[in-house]
Amino acid sequence: MFSTQKDALSIVPPITVTCKFCHAEENIIEYDPPGETLLFMSRDNVCAKCAYWMDKIKHPDVGREIIGGHYFIVHPFVKRPNNVIKGTEGKEFYIRENDGTLIKSNNVWCQGEIPVYFRNELQDTANFLSLITYTKLHNDPHTCYAKGCWDRYHCLRYNLECERDGPFNKVPANHIIGSEKCPSFINVNELKTII
Ligand SMILES: [Zn+2]
Repeated sequence: MFSTQKDALSIVPPITVTCKFCHAEENIIEYDPPGETLLFMSRDNVCAKCAYWMDKIKHPDVGREIIGGHYFIVHPFVKRPNNVIKGTEGKEFYIRENDGTLIKSNNVWCQGEIPVYFRNELQDTANFLSLITYTKLHNDPHTCYAKGCWDRYHCLRYNLECERDGPFNKVPANHIIGSEKCPSFINVNELKTII
């Protein structure tokens, strides 16, 4: 950065921080005007990228979902799509939060992959679903308590709470997943972490 003094050019000396997380070196002088990012950088010795994630932890966005270590902002479904600029070009996403809440949105904004240093504080909150699985769960959200079902540990509907006093039976090692042929069975591998 340069500033003019009479006829001469003088160079503002850099103030370098070495990020305590990723060890990147950055010149604080380049981050002007002051803001939350600069505050984190100078106070905590972090780079701008890590300061960005510290800010996300301190100020969670409304509609925040973390899926597969990626940070998304999920806005409500836009019913009149032509009037709104939408995230991910208006692609429809089907999301299941960890508590089972289902979300359909055509306005999802990806904020990037969370660095490993912040994964503890920004843990996954949800998964993506296919449209077929979303529709199945949306139309029939029931939780299953079939504690004798051999498919239960692979079924999204099964509530493990009913095994607090121990399992009702032991699933044979040679059991083939899905062979109970239960019409409500939804394999846990339907939970996706990538789009
Ligand atoms: Zn960093």
